[in-house]
Amino acid sequence: MRAVAVTSARREIGIVDRPVPEPGHGEVLLSTIEVGICGTDREIAAFEYGTPPAGEHSLVIGHESLAEVVEVGSGVDGLRLGDLVVAMVRRPCDRPECRPCAAGRQDFCSTGAYRERGIKELHGFMAERFADEPRFLQRVPPELRESAVLVEPLTIAEKAVAEVWEIQRRLPWIDDEAPHERRGEGLRAVVLGAGPVGLLAAMVLREAGFGVTVCARQPPPNPKAAVAEAIGAEYRSLGDTPMTEVARRLGRIDFVYEAVGAAEPAFEMVGQLGANGIFAFTGVPGRRAPVEFDAEGMMRNLVLRNQVVFGSVNAPAAAYAAGIDDLARFRRTWPGAVESLITARHSLEAAPALLRERPPGIKHAVVMT
Ligand code: BGC
Repeated sequence: MRAVAVTSARREIGIVDRPVPEPGHGEVLLSTIEVGICGTDREIAAFEYGTPPAGEHSLVIGHESLAEVVEVGSGVDGLRLGDLVVAMVRRPCDRPECRPCAAGRQDFCSTGAYRERGIKELHGFMAERFADEPRFLQRVPPELRESAVLVEPLTIAEKAVAEVWEIQRRLPWIDDEAPHERRGEGLRAVVLGAGPVGLLAAMVLREAGFGVTVCARQPPPNPKAAVAEAIGAEYRSLGDTPMTEVARRLGRIDFVYEAVGAAEPAFEMVGQLGANGIFAFTGVPGRRAPVEFDAEGMMRNLVLRNQVVFGSVNAPAAAYAAGIDDLARFRRTWPGAVESLITARHSLEAAPALLRERPPGIKHAVVMT
């Protein structure tokens, strides 16, 4: 079967021929339908991130999957031939002292010995077939076939926003019992970055009732601004409106979702956060020169305004379930908006070039079958 692999030692990205995996006891065999490409994949393809499995030189890339069950091994419950699934990325470490991994919350792995498919020590999904265990596979209803490749990036936002609700339990006047769509009512969120994760986060926040402003570099009109508008969010180009002005116009910023992966604009935005506000970092910046920021001012605000700044990576099974439900809800609420996040679908042959370049648009996916 064909797969796309990165060989850092030889600085190569190419299509390789690999044996079709044999599903072991308790595993299913999957036929990959499509795989999304994100910033992490581009870093791996630039040989700046990613680790092949132990004893191998190449890593099969791809972690945003949609696949179909084509063979059910012995001892498998709960999945049937023809089921559509999205595979989870991170797998638990085997260290006995790691309570998060033992509890099935490898997204909080405390040893760093976790593995991630297509990223760290495990082959990914940009292969015609892969095998996996049902506990790492989330079933997707057939009506989501056209958009389910967005589930994995959506889980990143689902986990971070779920954490915001946990943190805000500290505010006794917040109504924990409020229905989902009213929880963010009267609150203002800024999403920094208008890539797929940023726009999906904006959808999660709009759906929860937040007023949302998406801040990005590109001036409107552009496809990202069009998605923001379609979901009832405001789009601001930071080239036209400085962050201080965005904050002044909003009056108070209750929550910032960072999805830009660059320290300079992110820390500038931390300074604009309002009282009792929360700032979630989800972008992983590359290693660049140090940036300057007003650390004293930030510390003063954190204390005097009771602010919380936290980082969030990866996502648990519950975030996949929430993401699958939300994707269906987004499609009903804003017809066409979710679909318009996928700029183009490409053939497997085009994947190496797609990984090396940065084609314009929002999400690019590789069709595997
Ligand atoms: C993936 C996550 C992963 C993270 C760190 C992101 O691009 O979506 O699943 O945990 O990279 O490797």
